[in-house]
Amino acid sequence: MILLVDDKSENLIALQKTLESRGFTIDTALTGEEALKKVLKNTYELIILDVQMPLMDGFEVAEAISGYSKTADIPIIFLSAVNVSKEFITKGYASGGRDYLVKPFDTDILVLKIRTFIRLNQVQQSLQREIEQRKLAESRKDEFLSIASHELNTPLTSVKGYLQLAEISLKKQQIDQTKMFLERSQKQVNKLNNLVADLLDTTKIESGKLKFNYDHFEVKTFLENAVDNIYLSYPGKKIQVRGDDLTGISIYGDEDRLEQVLLNYLSNAIKYAPQSDEVMVDVHITPEQHLQIRVTDHGIGISSERQEQVFEKFYRVEESSSRFQGLGMGLFICAEIIKRHKGTYGVESEIGKGSTFYFSIPLIPEIAELN
Ligand code: ADP
Repeated sequence: MILLVDDKSENLIALQKTLESRGFTIDTALTGEEALKKVLKNTYELIILDVQMPLMDGFEVAEAISGYSKTADIPIIFLSAVNVSKEFITKGYASGGRDYLVKPFDTDILVLKIRTFIRLNQVQQSLQREIEQRKLAESRKDEFLSIASHELNTPLTSVKGYLQLAEISLKKQQIDQTKMFLERSQKQVNKLNNLVADLLDTTKIESGKLKFNYDHFEVKTFLENAVDNIYLSYPGKKIQVRGDDLTGISIYGDEDRLEQVLLNYLSNAIKYAPQSDEVMVDVHITPEQHLQIRVTDHGIGISSERQEQVFEKFYRVEESSSRFQGLGMGLFICAEIIKRHKGTYGVESEIGKGSTFYFSIPLIPEIAELN
């Protein structure tokens, strides 16, 4: 919409008609004050300002408009029949105008100028948006790099320390001590390995190169393997598996990738519930022949506003991020794996009570749909 400002209503009506006949939507104001009120309330693509108006002249209106952040970028064209000297034209540009037309003017030229200014403004705005987005992305990348280097450095420093201790113990022939330090450094190497694997997976997802090996496999064994894996990493914790009998049920999918999803859900359920020892796993075969797995913890929970974002890349809930280590890649990778199996996923949670992360995938998907 274009705003025309002129104290003479006959001028306004004439220009309004001309421009409306050329397809523009027009609003009008008879005084500078009315124009200012309107620009703050509505959104205009361009303003055409008469220079000579009582109380507040066109230059003052233009200066005020360029002073508000909401309106500063709206292109202004001055129109004047009286103030045609170089001095006035200079003042027009200085007060924020893009052009200064002297009456009588050629309507076709005015229309061309209006279209050009509007187009230039749109280009400028989209460039500004792009710059803003990149600046965001940049600061997120910086933040990610600093967290990633910290996350990689911590286990690496521990490995160095444990290996030195193992060497000292070995020199003293303390075999049990040496074994213990080697086992501890092995744990840290596994951590590093998982971090690097997640980083690689995230890069592969970005470039569309995450590969899957689909085959038939037993759901029961798959579940038992995942639970055993967790018991090895977290010996003191209890995983309670409930639900349907899975004997003889098989599924078509990438077993390793789906185990990665379940392990991520389970290890998060342990990590984000430091005060609780038990995690519940509910398994169901739905009437639509989907395998549904729900992992419930009694941990810190996630507020409803944050729940939607936890599956996004690098997203970590701010309120708890300093208390728990992580890079915010796990659930992003899980979401991709489930989507590639034509499944669905989500979270139900209450702050302070706990969370249930779930996924559901078809037992026998349309093989043609998998890639
Ligand atoms: P990471 O744990 O490495 O930060 P994830 O992608 O696995 O990355 O999880 C993303 C975020 O979701 C976590 O940082 C955490 O804020 C939140 N989250 C995930 N699982 C749970 C859970 N079981 N309970 C509470 N918050 C969780």
